[in-house]
Amino acid sequence: MENSGESRKRVVVIGGGLAGSLVAKTLQYSADVTLIDPKEYFEITWANLRTMVEPSFGERTVINHRDYLINGRIITSTATNITENEVVTADGHFIPYDYLVIATGHVEHVPKTRTERLNHYQKENQQIKSAKSILIVGGGPSGVELAGEIAVDYPDKKVTLVHKGSRLLEFIGPKAADKALNWLRSHRVEVKLGQSVDLNDFSDEGTYVTSAGETILADCHFLCIGIPLGSSWLRETVLKDNLDNRGRLMVDENLRVKGHKNIFAIGDITDIPEAKQGYLAQKHALVTAKNIKLLMDGQKESKLVTYHPGSAIAIVSLGRKEAVAQFTFVTISGCIPGMIKSKDLFVTKTRKDRGLDAGNASSKNKGN
Ligand SMILES: Cc1cc2nc3c(=O)[nH]c(=O)nc-3n(C[C@H](O)[C@H](O)[C@H](O)COP(=O)(O)OP(=O)(O)OC[C@H]3O[C@@H](n4cnc5c(N)ncnc54)[C@H](O)[C@@H]3O)c2cc1C
Repeated sequence: MENSGESRKRVVVIGGGLAGSLVAKTLQYSADVTLIDPKEYFEITWANLRTMVEPSFGERTVINHRDYLINGRIITSTATNITENEVVTADGHFIPYDYLVIATGHVEHVPKTRTERLNHYQKENQQIKSAKSILIVGGGPSGVELAGEIAVDYPDKKVTLVHKGSRLLEFIGPKAADKALNWLRSHRVEVKLGQSVDLNDFSDEGTYVTSAGETILADCHFLCIGIPLGSSWLRETVLKDNLDNRGRLMVDENLRVKGHKNIFAIGDITDIPEAKQGYLAQKHALVTAKNIKLLMDGQKESKLVTYHPGSAIAIVSLGRKEAVAQFTFVTISGCIPGMIKSKDLFVTKTRKDRGLDAGNASSKNKGN
């Protein structure tokens, strides 16, 4: 039976990313749900790089929280403190909870409104279009995917990718990294490994010097380096002792913060021993929604669903049609993994999971 009316339990979700948006959406008719996020929208993170080369793609991937959270309260602010029974936000709200879900993944300073975010993509696209040469700093998934998008959509641009590690894509195996490197080089992307660029120290506009003393000329640059975990604010809260030495929240097998019966943590912020991937963050969301429903229904602790860490599966797009994929026993590249990810970037599925239609596919996408 649905938990209705005044008896509905209060579930507060902090963070409206891949994990938080899904748990909020899933519980909205079973509980009194409040979602706290500093921006008014949820964004499909891995589609950002496509949106930089095709800004209209963002119409489907930047989604107002209100579009999927129809029956919940949205607070557009940052959580700054937690006590045993309420959350405090930067704009002065004190929000009581019966169950709390922390899903603050990574902190990225992005615009507050969807319109501003879409305008931002237009500007980045103008930068790409008007540049003859482009520097990308960072060879993780963002840097590699951005280089791939530009190489395919704007093959006349000179793209240089600088990465401080000895190989690309260090979050997956070396075989996948080699395949990505070969693909980029075959698409005329110059890749410099084992070097970094100090962006605070470039004297002439458009001239960059790497740590190895090499000079790179580029009309613009994009920074694709790791962004910090969204957990530093927890250091002064009741959960301060639940952070491990990497700043991640330690959770039990039911995804509750260890030692707390009504506080869950999901997504990239957790210490679950698995790759930090959005498809796993969404699995955490569904397990947590089930567990909160079970607890609200008064079920025994022993009935709670156990989360089993996922295996190391990852797909990195290389433009619109190709990709490199690492599955449990095999690593492949080319059109087959490209068919799985690169055309639609799981946008239709991610929207459907939030009760939305596919949205209008752009002309470029339809034509693929
Ligand atoms: C380029 C790129 C490609 C990727 N490709 C894939 C892929 O193909 N497949 C895949 O599965 N994963 C992929 N990932 C990883 C995936 O994006 C992450 O694992 C996923 O976003 C984690 O979700 P999350 O909800 O834990 O955190 P996030 O998506 O980082 O969301 C965190 C949310 O919390 C909010 N927040 C932070 N601090 C606070 C606070 N104090 N108060 C309130 N709100 C706060 C933020 O604003 C944000 O909305 C990719 C990532 C990148 C960057």
